[in-house]
Amino acid sequence: MQPLYIRNSLTRERELFEPLNAPHVGMYVCGPTVYSNVHLGNVRTFLSFDIVYRYLVFLGYKVRYVRNITDVGHLTGDSDEGEDKIGKKARLENLEPMEIVQRYTNDFHDVMRLFNILPPSIEPSATGHIIEQIEMIQAIVGNGFAYETNGSVYFDVRKFAEQHGYGELSGRKIDELLNNTRDLDGQSEKRDPLDFALWKQADASHLMRWPSPWGEGFPGWHLECSVMSTKYLGETFDIHGGGMDLKFPHHECEIAQNIGANGGSRPVRYWMHGNMLTVNGRKMAKSEGNGFTPEELLTGNHKLLERGYSAMTVRFFMLQCHYASTLDFSNEALQAAEKGLDRLMSAVAKAASLTAKAEAHAANLNPNLNVDELRQRCAEAMGDDFNTPVLISVLFDAVKWVNILQDGRQDASADQIQALHTLLQDYVFDVLGLREEATQSAGDDGLRDGLLDLLVDLRTGAKTNKDWATADAIRNALGELGITIKDSKDGSSWELG
Ligand code: AMP
Ligand code: ZN
Repeated sequence: MQPLYIRNSLTRERELFEPLNAPHVGMYVCGPTVYSNVHLGNVRTFLSFDIVYRYLVFLGYKVRYVRNITDVGHLTGDSDEGEDKIGKKARLENLEPMEIVQRYTNDFHDVMRLFNILPPSIEPSATGHIIEQIEMIQAIVGNGFAYETNGSVYFDVRKFAEQHGYGELSGRKIDELLNNTRDLDGQSEKRDPLDFALWKQADASHLMRWPSPWGEGFPGWHLECSVMSTKYLGETFDIHGGGMDLKFPHHECEIAQNIGANGGSRPVRYWMHGNMLTVNGRKMAKSEGNGFTPEELLTGNHKLLERGYSAMTVRFFMLQCHYASTLDFSNEALQAAEKGLDRLMSAVAKAASLTAKAEAHAANLNPNLNVDELRQRCAEAMGDDFNTPVLISVLFDAVKWVNILQDGRQDASADQIQALHTLLQDYVFDVLGLREEATQSAGDDGLRDGLLDLLVDLRTGAKTNKDWATADAIRNALGELGITIKDSKDGSSWELG
């Protein structure tokens, strides 16, 4: 298998990826807090890990990908103060918290589909794992790293740090943290301001609450990820991902909780952090007012947008940047991405039609075209910490060849053309997850359906005449457009992919 190197945020080293139980890989990525519409910044992080997931699958690994839904416990303040984000929204809109959760989970799924981001293998939610969260708290308390005050349970950071260290992932020094943290109002229950909540007592107005050994309450935000990653991937697993902004405190607390509960072993072998999407150098965030939704992006209906852009244009724009670098949004960059994507996708279509005309090509190999070498360079780019910008530049070398062949400036053998076509298909569709976008409006569906029916009939006719080349060419060309032909004993039909 092609070697894969990952930059591990924990060690800050580029490391050879060696899964614990190959060919199985366990990967956990922090999912959204479902209290508002996702913005494009969130999309970037989920896209970065979509690429990781796709490439691991492409390499042949059997990946169990867990991405959670945070539906309780994430408070408006970063350190255990403020209202629950979902509870607050439910109060403001006079809805059940679970109505808020459902609404924004649906929105999240719609957006993921729009950007062709694959669903995870398991999508667990925090509210679905309250019992397991209570059990983990009991284990941490049992090991002496947490204490109860007034129906709330806090993690004892100082005590934990003395035995196991704290701050390795974020590079923060525990002494500086202890000296720098102010004692916040209402936090006097904590022995130290750095301690964080594992369980919070619910006051009378709190909407989301569960019985526990410490009275009615709700879990702390960091706990769910420790619990759900352990439950589905084990005490030690391969990859944990999330946005850079989650390194501290969220991921640092996750590590402490896991070790605090399991007695010592590090939970995650490779930590990966996606960098931020920025606007004029500032992180895109709902609170900054610079976060537009995918809907606004498609319509162009936002003050930052000169016009609308398609989801695949945005996907391509993001993939032109390495996941660990910041990416600044701009209309110019999106317009350039639109052109680049168009060039790439038309090359795939041209490669398909060149492939379909196999018999028309040269009998001998073209010595200038080395598809194996192109494929090797693609693998090296992805093997170098998922370097999609370098991969895209190699694909454009393949595009140049398609154009040379298409224009008749040179010819190549049918085998070479088929290999070039397969290379583009593999990396454009499977690895980068780009897809043809339907350009027609809903009103054109009838016309589209009629044309597809016609093509399927023509193919059936070709098969009857044993004209396999034409039948296959129709199937392949439709396949490029994301349309699958299904053959059964009752005849053939088409399906949108
Ligand atoms: P949240 O729903 O706020 O927990 O965020 C969901 C994911 O989006 C987290 O992994 C965040 O790190 C990530 N995220 C938030 N803002 C941005 C941004 N501007 N660019 C990239 N990722 C972001
Ligand atoms: Zn998390």
